[in-house]
Amino acid sequence: MNHKTELSEKVEHFVRPEIRALSAYHVPDSADTIKLDAMENPYQWPEDLTNEWLEVIRDVELNRYPDPGARVLKEHLRESMEVPNESEILLGNGSDELIQMIMMALAGKDKVVLSVDPGFVMYKMIATFMDMPYVAMPLKEDFSIDEAKFLAAIKEHQPAVIFLAYPNNPTSNLFDEQTIRNIIDAAPGVVVVDEAYHAFAEKSFMPMLKEYDNLLVMRTVSKMGLAGLRLGLLAGKAEWLNEFDKVRLPYNINILTQASAEFAIKNRHVLDKQTQQICNDREILFKELSQIENITPYSSQANFILARVQDGEADRIFNSLKEQGVLIKNLNPAGGLLKNCLRITVGTAEENKKFLELFKATLE
Ligand SMILES: *Cc1c(COP(=O)(O)O)cnc(C)c1O
Repeated sequence: MNHKTELSEKVEHFVRPEIRALSAYHVPDSADTIKLDAMENPYQWPEDLTNEWLEVIRDVELNRYPDPGARVLKEHLRESMEVPNESEILLGNGSDELIQMIMMALAGKDKVVLSVDPGFVMYKMIATFMDMPYVAMPLKEDFSIDEAKFLAAIKEHQPAVIFLAYPNNPTSNLFDEQTIRNIIDAAPGVVVVDEAYHAFAEKSFMPMLKEYDNLLVMRTVSKMGLAGLRLGLLAGKAEWLNEFDKVRLPYNINILTQASAEFAIKNRHVLDKQTQQICNDREILFKELSQIENITPYSSQANFILARVQDGEADRIFNSLKEQGVLIKNLNPAGGLLKNCLRITVGTAEENKKFLELFKATLE
């Protein structure tokens, strides 16, 4: 038997079958492309702000471990994200890490994770890592939650945790507030309202933390312009968060992230202005897309637009744009309600214009 076969047999023997069955989270190579695939803010900081930030970074002691509790940063975030005084805060290396911490603390063969389909892919992915059963209730055609069916699923599965992205990714809509309230009331475990796109939406469950013991609100700085920092926030009752904190690896928020995020929050007006620009450009992009024959864009409360193209055309359009240097997200392979759908992150005005130009050309 040659060495290679022996090694693959060993890997097969020791690596969990559910992990071997996964394909690694694929991040496409994006050098020299117009990147409209990952919901990033397309803007950098003005030069004087960058210089100020470099001055702050100069004094950071890289030889020391960071503050393990990131106390100063937490207080800045509490104020900036309007976390109620009575709520505790837990920070993660991106909100992806918070999703992982929640599931690590709750895991078990009979601990069901409940969400919706189409929904954010990491919920299912991390449930698989943790060997937790994952149930996703199909959304209706208009991407709203089928409340009766969802409440029935809660009754049947008694989920340990429910994840709802608000606005939802990849459908960009806000679910009905009363529906979510009814879900929180019916849930036996915790309900995580994931507000990754809060900066672009007009509503939030943050103030509702005061009303519910089993509600947790999650935020991230990624989509508002700081994706490179990897910083997410979970707010809710100390009783829950103190338990989740036990599975957190020490120093998960590195010293450069702590210093940079504090600096960014102090200069929030710059990010807020960029967010406003993105919202304006989103409306322009939406209008332009609606005017194209056979294209149906969905109205968005986030920094991306989901658009349905003609049956069987999504793959071709996606590949053609990619060859011409514009990277968007092709959701057609996911199937179901996402069949024939493409997701376009709102870029700069010029990027959106370039996208529209090439997009229209591929339709001719
Ligand atoms: C992007 C995204 C996240 C992950 O954000 P990070 O903080 O960058 O890990 C979480 N939830 C939803 C719904 C997202 O779209």
